[in-house]
Amino acid sequence: MSLKTKIGIIICDRYRRCAGGKCFRSLKNKEGAFSIYTDTEPELVGYTSCDGCPGGNIEYCGEEMVKNGAEVIHLATGLVVGYPPCPYIKDFKAFLEKRFGVKVVIGTHPIPKKYLEMHTNLGTWQNPEWKQIIEPTMADEAIRENYN
Ligand code: SF4
Repeated sequence: MSLKTKIGIIICDRYRRCAGGKCFRSLKNKEGAFSIYTDTEPELVGYTSCDGCPGGNIEYCGEEMVKNGAEVIHLATGLVVGYPPCPYIKDFKAFLEKRFGVKVVIGTHPIPKKYLEMHTNLGTWQNPEWKQIIEPTMADEAIRENYN
């Protein structure tokens, strides 16, 4: 990777009023899904929502982010921790990667402790596919508590 890696973030429209605090903090601290940037500095070039189910903005904003240089698009942790999690996560990732040749990472900030507890109670993430999806944002217990 180069010294800087341009990234875009797409959030779940259910959290469209979110001011982005957890995403921006974890981006700065390289925590959660941003921990992959060990030898490069991520630079944010786009931030928007999917525009509501079933994600009509994915096509448009993906194109704009890539035009603006995005090399990686992060689907925000809200898509994973929402009740229920976004049913289109895999479709968004496959579409963006195939259509624009951009890398897509599922997740941004670490999963907050309270969400992990609730989804554990609900059994949301029990199957191997979900275990793989949440893996980049699991972090450790202290960090999850810190993002509660
Ligand atoms: S659940 Fe998925 S499609 Fe629906 S608003 Fe959230 S990110 Fe968009």
